[in-house]
Amino acid sequence: MTLLNMVDWSPMIAFNTVEFIKSAAKLEQCPPDEGIEIAFVGRSNAGKSSALNAIMGRKIARTSKTPGQTQLINLFSLGTDNRVVDLPGYGYAKVPDKIRLQIEHILRSYLSERQCLKGVVLLMDIRHPLPPSDLQLINFVAGAGILVHILLTKADKINRGQGQNVLLQVRKELSAFSNVTVQTFSAFKHLGLEEARQKLDNWFSD
Ligand code: GDP
Repeated sequence: MTLLNMVDWSPMIAFNTVEFIKSAAKLEQCPPDEGIEIAFVGRSNAGKSSALNAIMGRKIARTSKTPGQTQLINLFSLGTDNRVVDLPGYGYAKVPDKIRLQIEHILRSYLSERQCLKGVVLLMDIRHPLPPSDLQLINFVAGAGILVHILLTKADKINRGQGQNVLLQVRKELSAFSNVTVQTFSAFKHLGLEEARQKLDNWFSD
């Protein structure tokens, strides 16, 4: 992104007007399947809640020290028919099998059946890029023609050079997917915040 682009860009979406709609335990409890939804997904502890809060500029998602606690789909409104969706985190080893299966089921049904799902923001710890579970998710979602934007989170934990290397490596590994984009991100340092907002704004506005 050039400096000019950043200066020129002003968002269509007022992210800080975001409002909680509801928590849904299954797809049928979600609002009518219309408008545009952008879903945030990732392994437990990847930094999803922190990223959501930073991007919205408001504390809407609960960051937790005990991962794998929610099996709910949390839906938020960003104005008429634009919604941001916080999907349950997956892949936490200590979660009982029954809960793990519930999480997998709700993720699979939302990601495969939700017609208004335009894009998925996939959160991935920059120190552990492309674990098998995330590769599987990318194949599933991007293969179905849904847009995917990857945030390599906690970029403040490694130096800039290392971060750029991981970014290039992940881009290269996913180069077969024309609908997947990748950036580095830090919720703590507000790194990549505008780039992420711009991506969401484009998806909602296109
Ligand atoms: P979630 O389980 O994916 O929603 O992840 P959280 O947002 O709750 O974060 C998980 C852990 O990572 C917490 O201990 C956060 O403090 C930490 N974390 C999240 N974002 C960042 C970040 O940008 N930088 C650093 N250093 N730590 C982060």
